[in-house]
Amino acid sequence: MNDGNHFDDVRDEVDGLSGIFGGDGLSSMQKVGAKLAQDGSGYVYSLRCQGCGTNLNVHVSWDELIYCMARKKPVDPTTGREWVYDQARGGVYPPGHTTCCNSPVPMLMTAQEAAQRVEAGLHARKLSMGYFQKMMQRFQQQIMPVNMGRGHR
Ligand SMILES: [Zn+2]
Repeated sequence: MNDGNHFDDVRDEVDGLSGIFGGDGLSSMQKVGAKLAQDGSGYVYSLRCQGCGTNLNVHVSWDELIYCMARKKPVDPTTGREWVYDQARGGVYPPGHTTCCNSPVPMLMTAQEAAQRVEAGLHARKLSMGYFQKMMQRFQQQIMPVNMGRGHR
């Protein structure tokens, strides 16, 4: 009997998650709006709170986008908390909850989505190519020992 209850709990949790993120993740939310931040510090996503319907503007910094693009967990610069990795959906979502009604932030960022935003930022010269390359080099240095080991004769 306990096992039965346990499975019921798990199923409810999964249903709840799919309700939060919708069918196709961020792609459906892009229609709502993703635009360059006016101060050039990243992107602003316009989302609708799943809890109460309030319009939300979620600011995502270049660092967060670059980390996500490199398949590393970004860190929220205001709270210092790591984004949460959602393995089933192959993306990350921001930590914390909405200020309107304390719901989860209804957004999932994939590496592909982040790469598109970074590319657009470089193109618009809002993100400096030098800074971007420095970040990518840092990531490459972190994985280099693995590559060197593989190539070692
Ligand atoms: Zn809300």
